Amino acid sequence: MKVVGLLAIGLVLTSLAALGLAQGAWQPASSAPSETAAKETAAMPASKPASPRFSASAHDITPLSKERIEALALKLSKEDADVILAKGTERPFCGNLLDNKKEGVYVCKLCGLPLFSSDSKFNSGTGWPSFFKPFDTAHVGVHVDRSHGMVREEIVCARCNGHLGHVFDDGPEPTGLRFCLNSASLTFFEKGAQLPPEIRPIPTATAYFAGGCFWGVEDRFAQLPGVIDSVSGYMGGSVDNPTYRQVCYGNTGHAETVRIVFDPSRITYAQLLERFFKFHDPTQLNRQGPDIGDQYRSAIFANDEEQLRQAQEFIAAQAKTPRFEKRKIVTVVDTAAKAGKFYEAEEYHQDYHAKNGGHCPMPEE
Ligand SMILES: [Zn+2]
Repeated sequence: MKVVGLLAIGLVLTSLAALGLAQGAWQPASSAPSETAAKETAAMPASKPASPRFSASAHDITPLSKERIEALALKLSKEDADVILAKGTERPFCGNLLDNKKEGVYVCKLCGLPLFSSDSKFNSGTGWPSFFKPFDTAHVGVHVDRSHGMVREEIVCARCNGHLGHVFDDGPEPTGLRFCLNSASLTFFEKGAQLPPEIRPIPTATAYFAGGCFWGVEDRFAQLPGVIDSVSGYMGGSVDNPTYRQVCYGNTGHAETVRIVFDPSRITYAQLLERFFKFHDPTQLNRQGPDIGDQYRSAIFANDEEQLRQAQEFIAAQAKTPRFEKRKIVTVVDTAAKAGKFYEAEEYHQDYHAKNGGHCPMPEE
């Protein structure tokens, strides 16, 4: 395996950061960060399981306990255990998945978490299965590995910490990364195959809210337990694939909108509606504070008839409360089907507050 110097490691880390892959993302269950407030985690008794964590692809990535990992390890062959648990490396050109060209998903052999997809597999010529990006950046953890007199970036499964291989900065575009895998760490499932529960994402629902600048709306929703993913974008207008500049200056009709993917078993649509009305002022017409223009309008794009009914009933009920006694709610409620496609905003708008310092404070209850 190629030895890379410290400079190259720096390049790898820069590329990993661009991908959103955190170094050392995996933590043992006992010290896993909570999805809710850190103080809540600190208050948890040691015996309580880690708070559930979910990736943007809605997979449960809660770190497994030592006991669970030991139980799963019983099914491994000695050869697989040598790689996955003892961080070994299989011999080049010997793995069973090196030449696999079928469409499908490569999952962790120990815990079943999807790790890589066939659409990012390429022939690196190294003798090990190679990919230029993970299935989901939150599924692969990275650690500095100083073994064998080399400095490398080891990659591990984010859920079970099983050893996968290493990542290097000599991969193809668009990432420039080469995730070098041991076949022994992976199980392949061909496209269309019935997937066991541990491989499947959890059931989720989707909601769309527009309430002024999407940076703050996205950031606040992202902080709610049960929200799996929140993405800034544009919706409700007439221009395909709009840019931020077009939406700002071009009468596209689009509203800055946030797409929420949530776990309905942990947070309901009704609760999202309640929070949405706390996150912005639904009485300001075509503006939100200093941000003026119809792209900052207050809008709900209901994803189905049930959401439409709930949104309309929620607003009717809110209108009768003292908060809105003297101020009319101007939130526009429409169906997502009528509003048209949601277009994701440019990458620099995503997770803006997380990337650029500070979260928006949550409103007082
Ligand atoms: Zn795993």
